Amino acid sequence: MPKGSSMTIDETWRGLVRWAGAALAAAAFVAAGPVSAAPAHHKVLVVSVDGLDWRYLRDRDQLHLAIPNLRRLMGEGWTADGVIGVWPTVTWPSHTSILTGLRPDQHGVLGNQRPKEEGGDYYWTPSFIHGEPLWACAADAGLTTASVTWPVTKDAKITWDLPEYFRRRNGGSMDLATAASDATPGLVEGISAMFPSFPQQWIDDRTRTQAVLYLLKTKRPDLILLHLVDLDSEAHDQGPFEVNANAVMERTDALIGELARALPADYDLVVTSDHGFERLDHIANLGVLMAEAGVKGDLQPMGGVVVARDQAAAGFLRGLAAKGQDGLGREIPPAELARYAPKLAGAIAAFEPAPHYMFGRAETGPYLTAPRERGEHGFWPLRSDYRSIYIASGPGVPPGLGPTIEMVSLKARLAGLMGLHCRD
Ligand SMILES: [Zn+2]
Repeated sequence: MPKGSSMTIDETWRGLVRWAGAALAAAAFVAAGPVSAAPAHHKVLVVSVDGLDWRYLRDRDQLHLAIPNLRRLMGEGWTADGVIGVWPTVTWPSHTSILTGLRPDQHGVLGNQRPKEEGGDYYWTPSFIHGEPLWACAADAGLTTASVTWPVTKDAKITWDLPEYFRRRNGGSMDLATAASDATPGLVEGISAMFPSFPQQWIDDRTRTQAVLYLLKTKRPDLILLHLVDLDSEAHDQGPFEVNANAVMERTDALIGELARALPADYDLVVTSDHGFERLDHIANLGVLMAEAGVKGDLQPMGGVVVARDQAAAGFLRGLAAKGQDGLGREIPPAELARYAPKLAGAIAAFEPAPHYMFGRAETGPYLTAPRERGEHGFWPLRSDYRSIYIASGPGVPPGLGPTIEMVSLKARLAGLMGLHCRD
């Protein structure tokens, strides 16, 4: 409307506008009820740092980490004493649990990729999700949303969507051309106009951050989901909590600092992660020992857990545990299986690997083999010290140090910050 145009509005029109305004206010009053005030409504930026184990933050001084921005957010915001993940503690299932409040066996994203018998492609689209992701709840409430390489967002009903969708990977980077082919029209062009170095071949954490800076400056969505990936990639390659991963932690902290400085005052900032991480020294192939012992049983090694499906295999595992077999860790109690992985609850016995071991599937050859990567995740959610993170800060958040929380509680926490009432 041109400046001064209100001078042309006549008294009849003014009266109509006043009447419509009063009617709308009355309708809102009836809808909300006479006693409930409007809920606090903050915009939220959620940053998920893939593979950010809680120990990076808990032990930040011993690790000599120069992470001033995360230190400040922990001081000003509310920090959980670690987050217990979901089974499997893997990227795509966990990111979907953060947004749906459901375990993977409930929401249906069971791995990064679908089972081999279903073709083995990634769970690209939300058509695989049973349950309501936070972005859908926000959209239903008339709010705007954005995603920057958050898993399971191809073809999602997200207002500004640069999905995690790739044909080629380069460490934590993914090819821009594929993501751009399915991005919201105009989004990549807009980011590129603001940041001429954005349209490089690979999307990395630097350009993911540029995308969010663009969204904050031009679109101000009510909910922004950002998935940073480089830390996970480096920790797989050289192991967590050592010089290479720590260097990526510091670079990640600098990017979070850039976002925090650009954040408008009406935003809360949540920094979270999808799973913990552990240095990996050995693969323990229990099937080799079972074959050598001549035991015939149903043993299922799954990396972070081994499950015995019959008495023979269960007895064999318990016998190994009783004599202190290297590589074999704690027996997982049935109540934990029932709570975190109901589909494993029929097991006769289940064990975690010992620290810095994972279970392999080999049934011949040496018992212990060298891992392909120096760091891994995919361990049991309650593994000792193996936690992800949750820090919330901003106008909607009283500061403090909280207890250990569950990943499946995050959807409700995020909805609470936004004043949303989502379906369970
Ligand atoms: Zn991950």
